[in-house]
Amino acid sequence: LCASSSGEKAEKEYDLLVVTVATEETDGFKRFMRSTNKYGVNVKVVGMGVEWNGGDIQRWPGGGQKINLLKQALEEHKDNDNLIILFSDSYDVIFTTGEEEIVGKFLQMNANLVFSAENSIWPDPSLASQYPKPENGYPFLCSGLYMGYAPYFWSALTYSDIGDKDDDQLFYTQLYLSPARQDEWGIKLDHLAELFMNLNGARGDVKLLFEGANSMLQNVKYQTVPAIIHGNGPSKILLNTLGNYLANYWTRAKGCLACGEGRLDLRSIQEKDYPTVMIALFIEQNSPFIDDYFNSIEDLEYPKDKIHLFIHVNVMLHYHHAKDFAAKWESDYVTTKVIIPAYGKSEGEARNEALDLMNQLECDYMFTVDSNVRLNNPEILKLLIEQNRPVIAPLVNIPDKLWSNFWGDINADGFYARSDDYIDILKGNRKGIWNVPFVSSVYLIMGKRVRPPNTPSFTSSVGYDADMTFCSNLRNKGIFMYVMNIYEAGRILNMEDVETTHLHNDMWQIATNPKQWEDKYIPPGYWEARKPDTDIEEVCPDVFKFPLMSETYADHLVEEMENFGQWSSGQNQDSRLEGGYENVPTRDIHMNQIGYERHWLYFLSTYVGPVCEKLFWGYSGRHFAIMNFVVRYRPDEQPALRPHHDSSTYTINVALNTQGKDYEGGGARFTRYNCSCIGLEKGWTLMHPGKLTHQHEGLPTTNGTRYIMISFIDP
Ligand code: UDP
Repeated sequence: LCASSSGEKAEKEYDLLVVTVATEETDGFKRFMRSTNKYGVNVKVVGMGVEWNGGDIQRWPGGGQKINLLKQALEEHKDNDNLIILFSDSYDVIFTTGEEEIVGKFLQMNANLVFSAENSIWPDPSLASQYPKPENGYPFLCSGLYMGYAPYFWSALTYSDIGDKDDDQLFYTQLYLSPARQDEWGIKLDHLAELFMNLNGARGDVKLLFEGANSMLQNVKYQTVPAIIHGNGPSKILLNTLGNYLANYWTRAKGCLACGEGRLDLRSIQEKDYPTVMIALFIEQNSPFIDDYFNSIEDLEYPKDKIHLFIHVNVMLHYHHAKDFAAKWESDYVTTKVIIPAYGKSEGEARNEALDLMNQLECDYMFTVDSNVRLNNPEILKLLIEQNRPVIAPLVNIPDKLWSNFWGDINADGFYARSDDYIDILKGNRKGIWNVPFVSSVYLIMGKRVRPPNTPSFTSSVGYDADMTFCSNLRNKGIFMYVMNIYEAGRILNMEDVETTHLHNDMWQIATNPKQWEDKYIPPGYWEARKPDTDIEEVCPDVFKFPLMSETYADHLVEEMENFGQWSSGQNQDSRLEGGYENVPTRDIHMNQIGYERHWLYFLSTYVGPVCEKLFWGYSGRHFAIMNFVVRYRPDEQPALRPHHDSSTYTINVALNTQGKDYEGGGARFTRYNCSCIGLEKGWTLMHPGKLTHQHEGLPTTNGTRYIMISFIDP
C-alpha cells in the first residue's frame, strides 16, 4: 500500500496486517470476518480454540490474555519497518472499508501508534485527571482497536508484563499516560473517530448513511465516516442493530444482501435426511381460536417422523385440546410429551424442560409456538430452517397494531425499547433477516448452538418473564437472534378479552381479533359481494341475496341457541319486549339472551351496513337493531309465519341451515309481488326493505327444523 499523505513516510509502501484474538467462532466473530472479507481485508486470527482466561471483560476488567496471545503471534514482525499492524477485537467489531482507506487515514494522522478513543474512562476513572484534554473529540483510550508501525506496535505490546486476567485497556492507558513515551513513541488517540468508532456512550453521535449501494456509519458529531465500528461494553445491542446494515448487509438500493448467505437448501436433501425438530407448544393462558392453533401445527409441511412434540398446557380450558392433539398424532410424531396443569410447572420451568428434552433427544432444532400465535404459512418451519441461523423468529404481529414478537432495542433495565427501524421492519418497508435483542412467541432455535450445557436455568429468573430471561441469556452468550420478515408467517392474537363461558367462545372475538374472526366466520363470497362492481342477485323486487355468515358461524350460532335452550312460547305476550306484546310472534331466542347483542350490533354495522349502502344507493343509516333473534320453525312447533311487515327500514334474514338436508319446505314469500325465495343457502342472507313495500310470510316447514337469523335494522 502506498502512503498518500505528506511527510517523510509519504512515498513509502506499507503492508497492512490486521490481527485479532478470537478463542471461539462466535456469531460476532463470523460477522467480523464477513465484514473484513467484504472489503478484501486479510485477517490473522490468533488464539482460536485456546481456553479464554481473560475474564468476563464485558463487565469486569480483564483481557490481558489478548496481549499475551499477540506477543506469541507477532514476534516475527517486530522489526519489520514496512509493516503496519492493526489490532481489532472481533466479537463486537465491523469493518466498513478496506485496507487502502484505513492505511491512508492512519498515515494522515502522523503518528506511530494510534489507539481508538471513547467517551467513558475504563477501568480506572481516577486516571481521568492525568489525561491530556483534546481540543475536540473523545478523550479516553479504548484498547479494542489500535494500529501502528510494526516496531512500535511490538514495543507497546512488550513495554511491560501483563497477566491474562489483568486489564489490557489499563495496560495501554498507562503507556499512553506516561508523557515521555507518548511523545517519544508518537502515540495518538483517534479523538475524532476518523478510523475507529467506539459506540459506548456515543449512540447519539452516529447515524446510518444510505448511499445507494452502500450503507455506512457517519459520526455526525465530528463529521467523520469511521472505518471500523466497535460495540464496546454495553453498546453491543446497538452494534447488532447497525450490523443489520453495515458492510452491505442491507442497502437501500439492493435490500438484504446478506439474507442468502450461508443458507441451507432443504430441497437438495431427501426428506428422510431432514433435521429433527422438536415442536414445543406453550399454552400458558386461555386462548381464542385454539382449533386454528393446533390446525396450523398439524398443517406444517414437514415430515412428521422427523418431529418430536412437546406441549406445556397450563390452563384447564385447553387441557383436552392439548391431550386430544397429542393423541391424534402420537403415532406419527417420533415422540410426544404433554405437561398438564396438574404438574404445576411454571412457564420458565416448562421452557427449561423443553430445552433439556431437545438436548436429550438430540434434536437439531426446537420450534417454539405459543398459543397467542396463529401461523398461516405451512412452509414456515422449512423456511426458517433454511436460513441457518442460531435463533430465528418469523415476524408476526397483532394486525394493524405495533405489538409484535420482536424488540428492536432494550432499555437499561432490560425492558422494551423502540429502535429507529422498528416500524420499517414491522411494516415490511425494509425486508430482511434482522439481528435483534429479543424474540418471543414463535421462533426456531438451533440445538447445537443454544443447547445450554449444565445451565441450571436458562429461562427463569426473578422479576423477568421466561422470554426475557431466555433472550438475556442468549445475549450474554453472544448468540445472535434474528427476526425474518421476508415471508408471511401468521399473526399474534390479542389476548386481552378472552371469553371462556360459552360453547363457541370464538364468536365473541369479533372485535378483539377481527382478522382471525373473519377467517373463521366470514365466507369468502361475502368479500366478493361487497366489492363495488360485483352484481348481487335480486331474487324478488328489491330482495337481494348474498353470503354473509360462514357455515361455521351458522352452526355455532344455532348451537349456542340450542345450548341456551329457552325458546319463546310463540305467544303474543312476550315479556322480553318493551311493550310486552309481539304482534307476529315466532319461536325465538334473542341475541341479548346469550350475551351476544353488543357483538351482533358490531357485526351489523361492520359487515351488513356496507352491503346495504351498496344495494340501496344513497341510504346511510346507523345499521342498528333492537330486534335480533334466531327463529326456529318445526312442523310440530311453529311451522310458518303469517304475512306481516317488519318494523325496520330493512331486514336481514339469514339461513342458518340447509333445505333438503336439515329440513323440508320453508322459505319467504313476498305477497305484494307474489315472489318467493325458497331454499336459501346456509349462511346466505336475504336483504329487503321492511316497513311498507315488502309484506312477507314464512312458508311452512314440513319436516325437520329450520333456523333463521333475523334483524330488523334501523327500526
Ligand atoms: N475474546 C476472545 N474470547 C473470549 C472473550 C473475548 O477471544 O472468550 C476477544 C474477542 O476478540 C473480543 C475481545 O476479546 O472481541 C474483547 O471482548 P468483548 O468484545 O467481549 O469485550 P469489550 O469489547 O466489550 O471490552
